[in-house]
Amino acid sequence: MAKVVKFGGSSLASAEQFQKVGDIIRADEERRYVVPSAPGKRHKNDTKVTDMLYACYELAEKEQDFSEALAAIRERYQEIIDGLGLSLSLAEEFQTIEKNFREKAGSNYAASRGEYLNGIIMADYLGYEFVDAATVICFDADGDFDAERTNKLLSKKLAKCDRAVVPGFYGALPDGRVKTFSRGGSDVTGSIVAKAVKADVYENWTDVSGFLVADPRIIKNPEGIETITYRELRELSYMGASVLHEDAIFPVRQEGIPINIRNTNAPEDNGTWIVGSTCQKSKYVITGIAGKKGFCAVNIEKDMMNSEIGFGRKVLQAFEENGISFEHVPSGIDTMTVFVHQDEFMHKEQKVVAGIHRLCNPDSIDIEADLALIAVVGRGMKSTRGTAGRLFSALAHSKINVKMIDQGSSELNIIIGVANADFEAAIKAIYDIFVVTRL
Ligand code: ASP
Repeated sequence: MAKVVKFGGSSLASAEQFQKVGDIIRADEERRYVVPSAPGKRHKNDTKVTDMLYACYELAEKEQDFSEALAAIRERYQEIIDGLGLSLSLAEEFQTIEKNFREKAGSNYAASRGEYLNGIIMADYLGYEFVDAATVICFDADGDFDAERTNKLLSKKLAKCDRAVVPGFYGALPDGRVKTFSRGGSDVTGSIVAKAVKADVYENWTDVSGFLVADPRIIKNPEGIETITYRELRELSYMGASVLHEDAIFPVRQEGIPINIRNTNAPEDNGTWIVGSTCQKSKYVITGIAGKKGFCAVNIEKDMMNSEIGFGRKVLQAFEENGISFEHVPSGIDTMTVFVHQDEFMHKEQKVVAGIHRLCNPDSIDIEADLALIAVVGRGMKSTRGTAGRLFSALAHSKINVKMIDQGSSELNIIIGVANADFEAAIKAIYDIFVVTRL
């Protein structure tokens, strides 16, 4: 049995946090593969080591003095080493880093040192083997992650290590140069390692006890989500809920490995389980609510639209020609509405309108701005009667005007459009009806 455990930056920001992590790992024999991030913020106004590295490298690139900036980074690591009472020295590592910065090894290399050095400390602290991610996580010549090659190399390597630390966030290109994933990418490394060792579970330790039913900036102390499916998570993340890097789902999902989001500062909490499918009913009819502001609705009307073959395609072509992706397209008999991101659409608005006129000759086009979309997601909705009824009566009671309704055929979610100004009140009304009063 093997568990892969990934720890985020706030879980490894100081020696004190490292100790908590050590206790968590030692508490379970199966926690055999560890993926650390770089040290994060110790307090609100602190700077993440990754950001310090980017800033330091920028100086190096401009051939300015970066010695002070590098010394401050070294200080962060030394504090951790001293706090843990280790005799490890990073002097040589820092000499190499300084040399490579002078030789302009690139900002990817620079940023990756955060995880690399934290990995060395973690391996020393735990007595685990250190496996440099540059030797096992591969990108192709175009800079895309090479899943097949990585899986081969990594599974072969880890089959020989009973316990190992693989730093997150980076790998290497075919020519050996270091390449990072996008920000937050240690989540992705954790998932790749879990796949390679065919882990029973991928534990992702962070500073919250999993996913919440709604955004805590809108709902005070919202309930946590115990179990969520990958598909539900995708719907919620798309609409703005974020805890995990989006690309972290794919490798484990392929293998059917569940992800357990846990809290380093509250290890007794069960956190959230992200699974392929489950017979576990969620506590409430809905699993979660998420949403985003800043959409525009482009309403197109044309008499007899319903019988004009190819009308929808031509409308969407006008958006495509201007490089604008659409979110939702609810339609009526003689009307069709296209929801788009306002900031993407605004400066191309007249071009798109002209394009629709040219391609489809509509009777009228009308644009409404400042709209929000809210996704109410839940695998339980499919088998529950009256969910939509309750949802809309709750919104009506809160005097919220619903401008758009879209229920996907999967019945996994209901998407509603409201005015930006009604966004928070709508989320409160939905949370109240399904979670607080549990109707
Ligand atoms: N340290 C990197 C970042 O700050 C990667 C990570 O933490 O996952 O984005």
